[in-house]
Amino acid sequence: MSEKYLSKNFTLAQLTFSETAKRLGINNDPTDRELNNLKTLANFLLEPLYKITPFRISSGFRCLNLNRAIKSSDTSHHVLGFAADLVPTKISPEEFAKKIRASKIKITQCIIEFGWVHVSLKLDDVRMQFLVAEKTKSGIKFKPFNS
Ligand SMILES: [Zn+2]
Repeated sequence: MSEKYLSKNFTLAQLTFSETAKRLGINNDPTDRELNNLKTLANFLLEPLYKITPFRISSGFRCLNLNRAIKSSDTSHHVLGFAADLVPTKISPEEFAKKIRASKIKITQCIIEFGWVHVSLKLDDVRMQFLVAEKTKSGIKFKPFNS
């Protein structure tokens, strides 16, 4: 199977691979609409971010079945193909988020999660929102990333 590139550096396989999907036999192929969103994400967000520092993608598109299998919210941007979780390979997630904020690259949300940075881009909803996720007794809470 030849590799399908969505942008200069990122392939469809990188943005759809999931260990959980593989294990549970879930078909995680995007629809045309979701594929278009992934192309936007790859070209307008992931490529500029890749110039800041290298990273690997731990999760990109997640069809609803897969997203439910990992107990994520149905409204997650991952379900529509607007989001990816990035693990920077040379700097910490916090440092990466600071650099993303300083770059002024158009972004909907950037959330420092648990060893990775969640980024999303909806072109009609460029919020430039930076958050930190925290595990609390009552679930995951988000607070502004100010540091
Ligand atoms: Zn995420």
